[in-house]
Amino acid sequence: MTTVPFPAATITGYPRIGRRRELKKALEAYWAGRSSRQELETAAADLQLATYRRLVELGLGAQDSSLPAAFPLYDQVLDTTTALGAVPSRFADLAGADGGLDLDASFVLARGDAGRPPLELTKWFDTNYHYLVPEIGPATPFRARPERLVADVRRAAEDGFAVRPVLVGPVSWLLLAKADDDAPAGFDPLQRLAELVPVYAELLRELAAAGAQWVQLEEPALVADQDVPGAALAEAVWDAYTALTAPAAGRPQLLVTTSYGSPGPLLHTLAGSGIEALHLDLVKGAVPSAEELALFRDEDAPVLVAGAVDGHNVWRADLAGRLAQLEELARAGVEVSVASSTSLFHVPHDVEEETQLDPVLRSWLSFADQKVAEIVTLSRGLAQGPDAVAGELEAAAEARGTRAEAPGVRDAAVRERADSLTDAEIGRAPAEVRRRAQEGRSFTASGPLPPLPTTTIGSFPQTPEVRSARARARAGQLDQAGYDRFLREEIERVVRLQEELGLDVLVHGEPERNDMVQYFAEHLDGFATTVHGWVQSYGSRCTRPSILWGDVSREGDGVRGEAFTVPWIGHAQSLTDRPVKGMLTGPVTILAWSFVRDDQPLGRTAEQVALALRDEVADLEAAGIGIIQVDEPALRELLPLRREDQPAYLDWSVRAFRVATSGVRDETQIHTHLCYSEFGEVVSAIDGLDADVTSIEAARSRMEVLTDLEAAGFSRGIGPGVWDIHSPRVPSQEEIEQLVERALGHVPADTLWINPDCGLKTRGYAETRASLEHLVAAARTAREQL
Ligand code: GLN
Ligand code: ZN
Repeated sequence: MTTVPFPAATITGYPRIGRRRELKKALEAYWAGRSSRQELETAAADLQLATYRRLVELGLGAQDSSLPAAFPLYDQVLDTTTALGAVPSRFADLAGADGGLDLDASFVLARGDAGRPPLELTKWFDTNYHYLVPEIGPATPFRARPERLVADVRRAAEDGFAVRPVLVGPVSWLLLAKADDDAPAGFDPLQRLAELVPVYAELLRELAAAGAQWVQLEEPALVADQDVPGAALAEAVWDAYTALTAPAAGRPQLLVTTSYGSPGPLLHTLAGSGIEALHLDLVKGAVPSAEELALFRDEDAPVLVAGAVDGHNVWRADLAGRLAQLEELARAGVEVSVASSTSLFHVPHDVEEETQLDPVLRSWLSFADQKVAEIVTLSRGLAQGPDAVAGELEAAAEARGTRAEAPGVRDAAVRERADSLTDAEIGRAPAEVRRRAQEGRSFTASGPLPPLPTTTIGSFPQTPEVRSARARARAGQLDQAGYDRFLREEIERVVRLQEELGLDVLVHGEPERNDMVQYFAEHLDGFATTVHGWVQSYGSRCTRPSILWGDVSREGDGVRGEAFTVPWIGHAQSLTDRPVKGMLTGPVTILAWSFVRDDQPLGRTAEQVALALRDEVADLEAAGIGIIQVDEPALRELLPLRREDQPAYLDWSVRAFRVATSGVRDETQIHTHLCYSEFGEVVSAIDGLDADVTSIEAARSRMEVLTDLEAAGFSRGIGPGVWDIHSPRVPSQEEIEQLVERALGHVPADTLWINPDCGLKTRGYAETRASLEHLVAAARTAREQL
């Protein structure tokens, strides 16, 4: 085998949605039948070529395997699944004569079809990206399907680029999979590793034959604690990689990446397995110890690919500090290449696009293109010494310097307030005391709430009219007064509808919110929003995270600023005798769906956001809102990947929620909403939030989730969703009655609430009206039987 050295500078991945979301548009046009398969393929190929050209322009090599060929049309895990020919049994009919899935078939796995739900979507490590979970059973076929990967390599070569194909590695792919429905109890996908490895070997040979010198196998699952015991995991890694690197005719050299943390003791296993390059995340993970560094000096040791530039956040790197760190690794006698810590697809394309951002703030930021330049600079500095890149180091230091000193980054009043917060201000009276106070309260004109009260989670359908009014207001075609009038009328419509339907606790419907986090970011100091800063969330779905850069308080005078949700929620309450529930997004969710500052612990940032929300909660209460919901759908999302780090996280995240919600009287009822139904490690934290009522997703699991809560001794108000709002399907009244009955098997009647699984913003009015009618009718029937 001729050995081509690993490139001195590389990235492990790049945004694939396109600078102007070209891929999103091409996919959605194709799915809607507005374009042909050929047009989609052409758009995708154009995007690949534009990406390679851009990366070379930014300083990566065109010929040295530094360009990753990682262009999934929907999801990288799905692409590995199809490359392995691992067709889940419930999609077996889609496989072609050769056993493979073509592009259209793979879209059915991603999106489902009439009779079949898609593969499950799950969070990708501690990011806001979601991947499609492979379904594996004892008989799932494995068969190399290298066609798409090979075509990418060949097309790149024709355009003059020698690229590095990327696949999810065998151990992570199996760890990310779940057992399919037919699998016997106790089956673990990892049991199929030995059958899988030869299929990877074949893919590798095909890629080498197509001209790939290096292939990247991603093993991020090795940085997270797994249910598999450590020794078994080490054995799996060892078996897989010693097999894949066994001398074989025509295999490519292997880079294994370990983004999002540290592989811990598996670093030894990987380093000794025969792979040619090992990537470590030096941002989230640890810098290797002296003993670990020694592993990279052995004969046949891998190149250390140092993930020195943060792929998961948007701040300009401390180049001088990073260069010093890299030089130290090199001085230890290790061969070092410079890379991103994770794929850059977690950040937007290019800061230069954000022309409306304050130029000072812009100078602190680094999006994907800037990060590539940072990596190239570090690699040049490492090769030629710091003097060769003195200008770049200085510019980076200067930007970091202005950031540290800039007004707003540290606001003395905000800090003083956070520092003087006492424990007494954080707790509320015991839950029982509050419950009695709330039960005695006349929430309605006719007295207290009925048993099994009905409510919704907050948003009502965001109709084309709502979206268009918002777009016109943003474009200046609708003036502020006109837009406000529109929103007030929309709120009135939603209130009247809920009255007509007979719901007990109303909401204002959230028509003023473009997004549950961005709307808050737009009304808090310390945040900036972008215009083109889209980041893929899953498939063609993108979000535009806000940038939390400074100390946080509400916009307006003084440290308390001004209420921004009260005008809308108060308006709704003024229209009706029934109680209107106020809606806020919680501190952890605001952090999880924003780019957060990296110059102080996250818990400290959370506390500031929580204080701003505490002000809003107090203003809502003062405006006569007696029920206030603070949503924390992302509470589980930020959970650290290593168990040892979880208690500290749960500590500050729960505390932040309590800071936000504990400034109210006993008779004010605090609700929270969590978007999922598998609580696992966070089950005790839910109790710790100390909300009076918690709504959760439960319809799909048919209330199974309540078993976990029951086991954990949860005794507060609970609203398990009785309508799965993720599809337009209308549940019948009987179906909802059955779910209520099941819920009553786990939860006493006096703590049970009846509500949908989540907000209704993505639903239409036809199904919303019909489903809520059934929900209210089912609650009435259930009440009569109490
Ligand atoms: N209140 C929000 C809504 O109804 C909650 C959304 C969420 O949990 N993701 O839209
Ligand atoms: Zn939800």
